Amino acid sequence: CGIVGYIGKQNTTKILLDGLKELEYRGYDSAGIALLNKEKIDVFKALGKLSNLEEKVQKATLSEYSIGIGHTRWATHGKPTELNAHPHLGEFSYVVHNGIIENYKEIKDELIQKGHKFVSQTDTEVIVHLFENYYNLCNDEDKAFKQTIERLEGAFSILLITKANIEKIFFFKHGSPLIIARGNEEGEVLFASSDAPLIGLANDVVYLEDGVGGIATASNIEFFSDNYSWSTLPTSKQFAQK
Ligand code: GLU
Repeated sequence: CGIVGYIGKQNTTKILLDGLKELEYRGYDSAGIALLNKEKIDVFKALGKLSNLEEKVQKATLSEYSIGIGHTRWATHGKPTELNAHPHLGEFSYVVHNGIIENYKEIKDELIQKGHKFVSQTDTEVIVHLFENYYNLCNDEDKAFKQTIERLEGAFSILLITKANIEKIFFFKHGSPLIIARGNEEGEVLFASSDAPLIGLANDVVYLEDGVGGIATASNIEFFSDNYSWSTLPTSKQFAQK
């Protein structure tokens, strides 16, 4: 239902939770965040209100994170449970997803045969396992993400992070909304499924078109399509002020 993502030096946990709060009005049954730094990844998920998630986060010993993704879920495949809440994880990667992966069953069967273990009933979980399957074959996270996207059918916007490279957020938009923005501070990149979480934080905002994806780091945003580059995109400045 709702997606947020952040790369930068501000308090990543707070930015993600505040962002999810801005998306609350759209409705959701559960929520979660994944946070990454050099030493570790932390994942928090909770059923019901965002305050349940906040409570869990508050009880934990948090580190400083430079990258993170968050999600509010409106279940389409699998009941609203904590296990089915996003982010979904494989062995070393984490994904949040809005929309529906129509061909998830076929991908899931294929991956189960290859030994992947699934813990949720969602369509989303196949994305992260497919990514890791390809990564294990080619040892190249960019290529693995592109191969993953090529296999997916349906409507989806996706953010994926991986321990294979802790500086990158992989993103893709097809059928569900996704916005990418450069933050007000140096080296910041933000993602959101609607503009509310970005107000006051970001200057240059791009509403991605269908079929557009890429890789974001603190210093660079790279798109997969040749005719797309950050410098030539028409960005909107309307979010500069809160
Ligand atoms: N289809 C996914 C699920 O059921 C994503 C739902 C959403 O967009 O929140 O978990």
